[in-house]
Order: sequence, then C-alpha cells, then structure tokens
Amino acid sequence: MIIKSHAPENYDCPICLGLLGSASQKTLIKASDFVYRDELVSAFINTFFIGKNGGHVIVVPNEHFENIYTLPVAHGHRIFDVAQMIALAMKAAYDCDGITTRNNNEPAGDQHAFHYHFHVFPRYVDDDYNSVSPAEKRLTEPAERAGYAAKIKAALAAGE
Ligand SMILES: [Zn+2]
Repeated sequence: MIIKSHAPENYDCPICLGLLGSASQKTLIKASDFVYRDELVSAFINTFFIGKNGGHVIVVPNEHFENIYTLPVAHGHRIFDVAQMIALAMKAAYDCDGITTRNNNEPAGDQHAFHYHFHVFPRYVDDDYNSVSPAEKRLTEPAERAGYAAKIKAALAAGE
C-alpha cells in the first residue's frame, strides 16, 4: 500500500520546531508548555484550549513521523505508556471526572499538524465535549498554559 503524505512540500513542522525550542511564527509551542520528555517521546500542553476542556496534553514522538501508518511501534508503545502516565497525573492535577484520548490521521481524519500526535483531554460531567464548535477553540497565552503545565508536572513528580 502506498502511504500518501499530506504535509506540504518543504513543510516547516510546527511540532518539530516546538521540540527544538525554536522561537518562530511557525510554531506557537513554547518550552514552558512541556510536561515530560524522554529519549523517544515528549508531552506538552496544547496551544489551543477547546470548550470546557482546557489544559489538554499532546504526546508526540521526538522524531518526525507523519501519522499512525508510519509511526514505529516502539514509539507508539512509549506514547501509550506516557499517555497513561499523563492521564493519571491529569486526574490528580485537574480533578477531572474522566479522560478522553484521541489521535487524528490525514485531513479526512481531522489531522491538521502533520507530525503524529496523541491527545489526552480532561473530561467533566456535562462538559458538552462532543458538541463543541470550532469557534470554541481558543488560542491561549503561554502564561496560562504554564499554570496547567506546573500542575501536571507536580502530579507526575508526586507519582500520581
Ligand atoms: Zn515534525
């Protein structure tokens, strides 16, 4: 099967730039957004907050792989391990009622950044998560995200 890439030619990957800590208009990801990093994967607070589910975390491979089709399984396994750790930390840090995880692949699958990423969302009773419109996606300031990152990091450090 031929796997088609959807990244434009000479794609300046915003997630790779964020991982490098580049201050660039092409990425809104800041060093202060990161909550976890090891040799294979990293996790950071998402730039956009969605509906009532602010502070959601993105887990990514440190190397550039576009989607689930090309992600090496070793990275995929580590991403799942870290997502579980983040989910537990998020429960403790945000006192949320539930967690939803999501991974989008190809434009038809709602993928917008063409570097594999796995979402971990905090969920709350009656949060209307499934009926949130795109207008309810809010671009946040780094300082606001840093508050969420501090809570997740504290929960991770406490082994929660
Ligand atoms: Zn990338």
